[in-house]
Amino acid sequence: MTRFEAVIGLEVHAQLSTRTKLFCGCSTAYGAAPNTQVCPTCLGLPGALPAPNAAAIALAARAGFALGCTVARQTRFDRKSYFYPDLPKGYQISQLALPLNEGGGLTVQLPEGERRVRLTRIHVEEDAAKSAHDAASGATLVDFNRAGVPLVEIVSEPDLRSPDEAEAYLRQLRDVLLFAGVSDGNLEEGSFRCDANVSIRPLGSETLGTRVELKNINSFRFVRDALAYEIRRQEAVVRGGGEVVRETRSWNPERGESASMRGKEDAEDYRYFPDPDLPPLALDDAWLAAREAEVPELPTALRARFARDLGMTAEDARVLGAHPALARYVEDAARTLAAEADLPLGAAGKKMANVVQAELLRDVTLHGHEASFPVSAAALAALLALVEAGTINGKIAKAVLPVMRDEGLTAAAVVARDGLAQVSDTGAIDALVAEVVAAHPAQVAQYRSGKRAVFGFFMGQVMKRSQGKANPGAVKEALTAQLAQE
Ligand code: ADP
Ligand code: MG
Ligand code: ZN
Repeated sequence: MTRFEAVIGLEVHAQLSTRTKLFCGCSTAYGAAPNTQVCPTCLGLPGALPAPNAAAIALAARAGFALGCTVARQTRFDRKSYFYPDLPKGYQISQLALPLNEGGGLTVQLPEGERRVRLTRIHVEEDAAKSAHDAASGATLVDFNRAGVPLVEIVSEPDLRSPDEAEAYLRQLRDVLLFAGVSDGNLEEGSFRCDANVSIRPLGSETLGTRVELKNINSFRFVRDALAYEIRRQEAVVRGGGEVVRETRSWNPERGESASMRGKEDAEDYRYFPDPDLPPLALDDAWLAAREAEVPELPTALRARFARDLGMTAEDARVLGAHPALARYVEDAARTLAAEADLPLGAAGKKMANVVQAELLRDVTLHGHEASFPVSAAALAALLALVEAGTINGKIAKAVLPVMRDEGLTAAAVVARDGLAQVSDTGAIDALVAEVVAAHPAQVAQYRSGKRAVFGFFMGQVMKRSQGKANPGAVKEALTAQLAQE
């Protein structure tokens, strides 16, 4: 039986993180009441003229540099004509012949190694309005708040070979855009959307098969499910003696299947031509160099550095390096701890990675480029520094953290106010141990007859009597000494 190989290329639409739309001053803020962020330009009213948003072009060029593209010195906008209720002008302003960015690529980290996915182009375009079908009235409702919002369309070469690879590519691409500050990559809010093109061919063949384009994929799981379904469907068609037809299909996540939407249009159908309202943009070297310089450390490099310099496991680095604000927080906290407690950065990073994941992460909220933390990085570092200094033990530190959060106090203030400082004074600890030993003659007898496991019981009793404040090392020493006596 012929074995088939899947060939996948993705077109990703990512919303650029600008305050205002691509060709007018309307807000891009998500979630406003329908049709409240509109003006004659983004409604396509006669006579209204577009004016390009420099911040959007700058972010799109930054995306190009982040992904290794060649960023053009001359770029131009074209009209892409089609008729649909969500497109008020009857055309979308996009780019065809002279896109802002060409080439480039992304090295995707996969469980079995790396795969280089080449990019064809990244162009700038405006978003369409959002339509909703109202079941009760049978009407189609259109919200023009989204019309004219700036997007980049990132087109990959057909270099992906499986649904898992497609998902990994998308996740990594989203992360690059998020870290670069280009897009918040928020799938739920539609600021990161994907169309997936897929074909099959006999394994070993070099020619491309007929492709199908899958629309309406708005989660990482859907891309995997939709592609797996489509690959199976195409294989069944071919094995049944049929031919795959070039078409656009829509993924229905509830039914777990796709349905044909339309035969695929070609570029000619869109009657592209240069937008006469928008003169070509000439981008000079200084401007381009400034955009290139804006590209920060990207996620793969950051995670590798966390593992190398901050003592993290690959898994720690993946979790804590998942969002730029979280990564910055953890790194700040680790560096502050290293300085305050005079620890090597690797040791401080490891401790911080553990504490953040065990005690803090559940209270961190990440939304778009923003993040909020229950306590500041400096405050968290100060808490851990108290543990390093022996002022409190780890268990007390765990209890202090929520008090810091709820009452907005520093660790030192909570420890002082609530009398939580660790008791290391040997006289006090000897006295506690003596009380516990005297109160439990049966266990003492067990211990002395060789049942060493009861030592844990004694440790627990002494710690309890000290309200958790005794220095565990000192307790262990005192207990060992007193239990040994006849
Ligand atoms: P269009 O402009 O019609 O969407 P493009 O040529 O720009 O077409 O290709 C769109 C996407 O389809 C690209 O990501 C490309 O990699 C992918 N693609 C092209 N041919 C194939 C194929 N035979 N199988 C799978 N993907 C393909
Ligand atoms: Mg396309
Ligand atoms: Zn507007």
